[in-house]
Amino acid sequence: MSWRTVVYLEVRCDRCGELAPDPDEPCLFLSLEQARALLASDGWAVLGDAMTCPTCVDRVGCALLGHCWEPWQDRAWHDRVGRTRTCPACRSIEYDPALITVDADRRADP
Ligand SMILES: [Zn+2]
Ligand SMILES: [Zn+2]
Repeated sequence: MSWRTVVYLEVRCDRCGELAPDPDEPCLFLSLEQARALLASDGWAVLGDAMTCPTCVDRVGCALLGHCWEPWQDRAWHDRVGRTRTCPACRSIEYDPALITVDADRRADP
């Protein structure tokens, strides 16, 4: 029997820490060059040693240019009714009325 130690690279997004190319199926790269080439062709932004996942790339795009909101959808959750809309680019969700976790003013009323 023979054995040897092999070193692989694990790549994570610089912004959110997600494993590349997918958190459910992380890939071990043989070299930084291999990681750069594969991730650049998979929607990652690769700039030198900095690597940003596609989700974070989209979030930056939304932060700069605004969200691409889909139409509002009526919703009911717990004892509230309202509506939500989502941005498919960055997967943000907006609630109307905005989500409130503690309704302190109402509790203080007699
Ligand atoms: Zn990310
Ligand atoms: Zn967005």
